[in-house]
Amino acid sequence: MGDPRRRVPRTDVLLTHPRLAEAERVLGRTLVKSVIAHAQQRARAGEIEPEQVAEHAVAALPATAASLRPVINATGVVVHTNLGRAPLSQAALEAVTTAGRATDVEFDLATGRRAKRGRGALAALAAEVPEAGGVHVVNNNAAALLLTALVLAPGKEIVISRGELVEIGDGFRIPELLESTGARLREVGTTNRTSLRDYTTAIGGETGFVLKVHPSNFQVTGFTSAVGIRELAKLDVPLVVDIGSGLLRPHPVLPGEPDATTALREGADLVTASGDKLLGGPQAGLLLGEAGLVERLRRHPAARALRVDKLTLAALEATLVGPPPPVEKALTADPAELRARAERIAARLPGARAVDCSAAVGGGGAPGVELPSAGVSLPETCAAPLRTGDPPVVGRLEAGRCVLDLRTVAPEEDELLVAAVLACSS
Ligand SMILES: *Cc1c(COP(=O)(O)O)cnc(C)c1O
Repeated sequence: MGDPRRRVPRTDVLLTHPRLAEAERVLGRTLVKSVIAHAQQRARAGEIEPEQVAEHAVAALPATAASLRPVINATGVVVHTNLGRAPLSQAALEAVTTAGRATDVEFDLATGRRAKRGRGALAALAAEVPEAGGVHVVNNNAAALLLTALVLAPGKEIVISRGELVEIGDGFRIPELLESTGARLREVGTTNRTSLRDYTTAIGGETGFVLKVHPSNFQVTGFTSAVGIRELAKLDVPLVVDIGSGLLRPHPVLPGEPDATTALREGADLVTASGDKLLGGPQAGLLLGEAGLVERLRRHPAARALRVDKLTLAALEATLVGPPPPVEKALTADPAELRARAERIAARLPGARAVDCSAAVGGGGAPGVELPSAGVSLPETCAAPLRTGDPPVVGRLEAGRCVLDLRTVAPEEDELLVAAVLACSS
């Protein structure tokens, strides 16, 4: 037999294997060759037989040419930042696939002329929030705030309460973001209390605008007070409200969460929000408000640097006009139905039991809100194999158990979930 390393098949021979040849067509030569090289390496190291190289290479092929993998979110955190925030609806996914080809994003097919970029998405947003005279979409809410500061406060002051100097996450802080435009922050009030007088004494010739930020990822409780939009709107300077999570109208499940329609009705000149939190759409920054102001934002040179891709516009429009996205379904799921699903699933899994639990909104939204939920409780040792399985399932560790919270799992994913748990417990 000789040295087994001699028997390791050559790359050009392996590339003629039907499954690997097909994979080369779908995934590209570089990717398939790197998978083959890894399998050859394992054979040379004696981990597998040389005759198994092709089989191992086939098994190791990724599903797509991108390394991002679909994950089942069983954490019970509806908008999970590390899992990509809002999952898109089927309608939005299909819109993205269509828009990924050549598309009329900036072209009028009837006249053959250039047309307004993303007009469908903008019209859908305007229709959802009739209180907004104008609407614009940028990369994310941070970009919306940046553009607002560039337009309304160049060399001027942004008046903001000390209770609203928020860090968004991953070390990014709204105050620093705003100051990076050259605007100065004029902090008013204290961490827990800010009064209208604090604002009126700070406002003057240097004021660019008053910014009210929803402290979306924390709560200050006890001896607190803040000034509402209605009162701030009476001041003689532009009022910008960062609502954070992107609810366009009040939500019955989240009565404490601000929404764009109410903020505009109460007198905000401009509202900024994210697209991929409670709105349930793609990453985007929404700007809604007074028509002339929105037009100035749109025309600022920096607007081009913050402009969204056609894929985003497609997903946003489909989220707004299409069926409820997964975030909305997760928020409104009936606890009794979640419990029934948990019991059906647990009955099929050895060592599992159905439990009542508590889900959260997450993604910097509705802190302190607990959504009654149900899940499947497994031994804690299941967590790692589930996470590294196929598809990966990410649960929540709670009191020495691994809980798979069903509020964030779509019912269509139940069978996959059962198969994933059975695969890692066998
Ligand atoms: C999440 C959040 C942001 C940042 O939004 P991105 O879309 O992630 O840029 C800004 N402000 C508030 C209040 C938020 O909750």
